[in-house]
Amino acid sequence: MNRVFIRKGRDESIKRFHPWIFSGAVERIEGTPFEGEVVEVLSFDGNFLAYGHFQKGSITVRILSYCKDDAPVNGAMPLMFWQDRLYKAKMMRNAIGLPTSRTDCYRLVHGEGDSLPGLIIDIYSKTAVVQAHSAGMFLSLERIAEALTLCYGDELQTVYDKSEGTAPYKAGLNLGNKYLWGATLQDENIVQENGNKFSVNWKEGQKTGFFLDQRDNRALVGEYATGKNVLNMFCYTGGFSIYALNNGAKSVVSVDSSAKAIEMVDKNVLINFPAGNVEHTSVCADALDYIKEIPKGKFDMIIVDPPAFAKHRGALDNALRAYRRLNAHAIEKVASGGLVFTYSCSQVVDKQAFALAVFSAAAQTGRKVKILRRLTQPADHPVNIYHPEGEYLKGLLLYVE
Ligand code: SAH
Repeated sequence: MNRVFIRKGRDESIKRFHPWIFSGAVERIEGTPFEGEVVEVLSFDGNFLAYGHFQKGSITVRILSYCKDDAPVNGAMPLMFWQDRLYKAKMMRNAIGLPTSRTDCYRLVHGEGDSLPGLIIDIYSKTAVVQAHSAGMFLSLERIAEALTLCYGDELQTVYDKSEGTAPYKAGLNLGNKYLWGATLQDENIVQENGNKFSVNWKEGQKTGFFLDQRDNRALVGEYATGKNVLNMFCYTGGFSIYALNNGAKSVVSVDSSAKAIEMVDKNVLINFPAGNVEHTSVCADALDYIKEIPKGKFDMIIVDPPAFAKHRGALDNALRAYRRLNAHAIEKVASGGLVFTYSCSQVVDKQAFALAVFSAAAQTGRKVKILRRLTQPADHPVNIYHPEGEYLKGLLLYVE
C-alpha cells in the first residue's frame, strides 16, 4: 500500500479527527498513489494514523478511517466498509424520524458529517442520487451503489450518479452523469416534504435536484406566512413558496433567474393546487434588479436565499458586499412589521461574518430591525464536531418595525 508520512508536529489535527490532510502537513509520500487511491497515513516516525483518499491539490488526503482494521483492498475500501457507513447513516436518519409518511426525501450522507468526506447521497422516495466531490469517492461509486441496494432492499429502485460537475475534472476520471443501478425509466419523482409536494428532476435540476437543506426553514416560513404577501427571491423550484401557499399566504411571488427553475415552480404550484385556486406569480429575473423596482411595503415577508456567493476565500470580500447590498434592499422594501428570512450557504462565510453583513445592511436602511431567530441546516445535514467547517448554512429571521 502507498503511504503518506506526516511532518513532525503536524499530526495533531489528525489525532483530533479532523478529516482533511493539507499538502503542507505532508513530509513525504512513499510510492506513487493514483488520484483516488486509498493510502495509509503515518506519523513521521511510522505510527499508523489513518486511511484516506489520496488526491493532488491542497487537500492531499481525505480521511475515511482511523481504525487500522479497516484496511483497503487493492487501493479501495471493500464493500463491507461502505455497507457499515451507509447503515450507520441510515440509522442516524431513522433516529431523527426520517423518512416519515409526510417526508420521503432527505439527505442520507452529508460528507464529513457522516465520516465520508467527498460524498453526498440524497434520497428522493425510491431514488438515491449520489454525488462525488473527490476522485476517491468517484472511483468508489459502483461499490457505494451496491452497498446502497444492500442497505435499502426493495425501498430503493434507482441509483443515479450526478458527479459530472462536482468530481475533480483534472484527475483524469471518466466523468458523465448516469444511472448506476436499477430502473432508468424516469428522471423525475414527485416527493413529499412535510406534506408539501415537489417534483424533483435529478438529471436536469441543480445540485442533486432539490435543496433538502431548507426543510426546517421552509416549515418556519409556512408557520408565519398565513395571510401574508410573500416574496420568495432565489426561489429555485419554489420550496418556500409552496409551503407559504399551503399555509394560507394571501399571495406569493417567486423570483429566479433560471428559466428552467421557474418552469419547475409553475409545475409544483400546479401539483399542489390543481384547481389553481391560489394567488401565485412567478418571475424569471435577476433578484437584485427585481427588488430594486418593487414599491416599499408591498410584501410582508421576504425570503432571500441566494446561491453561494463565495466558493473560496479569495471571493470573500465581494461576497460580503453582495450579501450586504441584497439584504439592504430586502430590509428597505419589506412592509412595517414585516419579516425577512435571509440566508447564506457559502462555507467560507461564517456566522459572524454573515451577521455583520446583515447588520451593515440594516444600518444602511436606518430601519429598526430585530433578530428573531438564528437559522441553520436541518439534522440530516450533520456537522462532524471535529470539522466545524461542515456548518455551512446560516440564516437570520429579521423583524422590521
Ligand atoms: N430557495 C431555494 C434554493 C435557492 S438556490 C429552495 O428552497 O429550493 C439559489 C437559486 O438562485 C438558484 O435557483 C439559481 O438559479 C438562482 N439565482 C442565481 N443567481 C440569481 C440571480 N442573480 N437572480 C435570481 N436568481 C438567481
